[in-house]
Amino acid sequence: MLQQRTLKSLTRAVGVGLHSGQRVEITLRPAQPDTGIVFRRVDLPQPVDIPVSAFAVTDTRMASTLSSGNVKVLTVEHLMSACAGLGVDNMYVDITAEEVPILDGSAASFVYLLQSAGIELQNAPRRFIQLNKPVEVREGQGASEKWARLEPYQGYKLSFEIDFDHPAVDATGQRVVFDMSTGSYSKDIARARTFGFSKDFEVMRANGLALGGGLDNAIVMDDYKVLNSDGLRYDDEFVKHKILDAMGDLYLVGKPLLASYSAFRSGHALNNLLLRELLARTDAWDVVTFEDEKRAPKGFAQLARAW
Ligand SMILES: [Zn+2]
Repeated sequence: MLQQRTLKSLTRAVGVGLHSGQRVEITLRPAQPDTGIVFRRVDLPQPVDIPVSAFAVTDTRMASTLSSGNVKVLTVEHLMSACAGLGVDNMYVDITAEEVPILDGSAASFVYLLQSAGIELQNAPRRFIQLNKPVEVREGQGASEKWARLEPYQGYKLSFEIDFDHPAVDATGQRVVFDMSTGSYSKDIARARTFGFSKDFEVMRANGLALGGGLDNAIVMDDYKVLNSDGLRYDDEFVKHKILDAMGDLYLVGKPLLASYSAFRSGHALNNLLLRELLARTDAWDVVTFEDEKRAPKGFAQLARAW
């Protein structure tokens, strides 16, 4: 049987929120089978649980925000991406403020945390959402056109295309395809950092956003070039970060997908719309388990490889 996974032990990290600039501590803890991933605000007088769900996503302007009533957790997508990449099904994320720490701006620190806690198999079958018909969402026309699509596929594959008119981005790949069967999430995707423009950072800071952002946790560009002295981690780091984000956004559906995802200029908002469309189209998917793990798509049965 292809089994669910949780952590072997708990692990902690301290950092700052990208937008709030606030100091925050997260504690990742093991959870029982079928718990899913649950954020728990432990700084409130009464702790509040926010289980991951496509419908808990309430704000997608700068990052993916989850809410339960008026209690929020911002910027969950990089941690969720690491969980998707490593196949963690069940975990509590105790958090002491409103925003997940940005750490180095990629999912690499979360991968390191999850792997240092260790990943344990549980006595329950892993449930996948398997597409059997395509589902698509679109927005805008002409130059502002964006779309995202899920199609049937024996495994999990993501292909993303961006269309940034900037010398530093033009010089790199604007399209990338990643297939989970390669087992190379940690090496090829997780280290891609978030990116932004120095002029936008100034405007955001003036509006009380991106207060924790800077060269330590983002690729920052001016009108011509990348300002980080170490340059890029991958030649196509920009579009790889969009794959990283998409994996995190899509994992908010609560189960791993067996599908081919493709997107053009999508972002947190359209990714969430795609999940809502998927959940509404109950004829387009089934929930499946694998009694014989040899029949599971490649890349899912093995525990994730280290770097
Ligand atoms: Zn991101």
